[in-house]
Amino acid sequence: MGLDIEVISPRDLPSLHPFVRSEGVEAAIRIGDDRYFDPAQVAVGFATAAAERGAYVYPNTQVLAVEIDGTRVTGVSTTKGYIRAPVVVDAAGAWTRTIAERSGLQVPLVSTRQQLMVTEEIPGALKDLPMVRIMDAAVYMRPCLGGFLWGVYEEHPRFFDMGSWEADFDINNMPLDRSVLDAAAADVVNQLPILSTAAIREFRGGLPTMTADGHHILGPSPDAPGFFFASGCNVAGLSIAPALGEKLARWIVDGRPPMDLSCMAPARFSGRSWTDEDLQRDAAWQYRHFYGAV
Ligand SMILES: Cc1cc2nc3c(=O)[nH]c(=O)nc-3n(C[C@H](O)[C@H](O)[C@H](O)COP(=O)(O)OP(=O)(O)OC[C@H]3O[C@@H](n4cnc5c(N)ncnc54)[C@H](O)[C@@H]3O)c2cc1C
Repeated sequence: MGLDIEVISPRDLPSLHPFVRSEGVEAAIRIGDDRYFDPAQVAVGFATAAAERGAYVYPNTQVLAVEIDGTRVTGVSTTKGYIRAPVVVDAAGAWTRTIAERSGLQVPLVSTRQQLMVTEEIPGALKDLPMVRIMDAAVYMRPCLGGFLWGVYEEHPRFFDMGSWEADFDINNMPLDRSVLDAAAADVVNQLPILSTAAIREFRGGLPTMTADGHHILGPSPDAPGFFFASGCNVAGLSIAPALGEKLARWIVDGRPPMDLSCMAPARFSGRSWTDEDLQRDAAWQYRHFYGAV
């Protein structure tokens, strides 16, 4: 696919990254095109660019429900009034399901806790060091604010029913579990010893959405013309969002996707039912195997 990728000897790891040890590593890959960025700036960047192109942006405005007349979408009611709209995209992240269910639509995704730590400054933790992913342990680490940001795709992820939380929910109030990260640091102590010793500046989490088959949920709802989904990010929404946004826009305007996106289409769930238990079991498997390894 034209990416800058090569298999390297595990012995060469410390020369690429002085905080990585080769001990116990059986195979290593260098990915020259890997990048990291500040996620908060992504949303701000998209919103600013949309406004510059004529979109109306209403910050701090809650969508209460998507209005459906018969089966067709007619608009959204918000905390700042009603907006008439023949097309609505439910891209409410962890709240996608809550919004859909208020309109009587089912969508199989689960809001999943993803925790991370940011260390205090560490001499030598330069911002241009590569990201590190230890596939078998599902642990990742990248430079951040003069130290490192790191996290793990935990084996038994915690899911949240967003509908049961107050409307003024703040992500900073989400319950965290430090023991998960301590166990992950112990798991990779031979490869990333810094994780077990560095002082912690910040411990926080977010709520990406997981699906049972690991694919996004993108496209029209088969049950309500005008109702589109852009969700089920499976912890990869930042990297793929520009491409998905572009494809969904074409799908809405042209009435069909510009390429085969059936693996992401909500129609793949038509005629199927699922229990929360099954959904969470399969979503947990997808989450833990995000890097493909065991
Ligand atoms: C710790 C962590 C690490 C991650 N690492 C990566 C990574 O390396 N690469 C990657 O690609 N992705 C990564 N992700 C995933 C990425 O952050 C998500 O895929 C992405 O944020 C999902 O975007 P979204 O627009 O679907 O949802 P969100 O970013 O959650 O946006 C949904 C928005 O909808 C708003 N909303 C909700 N309900 C309502 C309502 N009723 N009315 C109005 N607005 C509402 C919310 O306030 C929010 O602003 C990571 C996530 C976490 C938590």
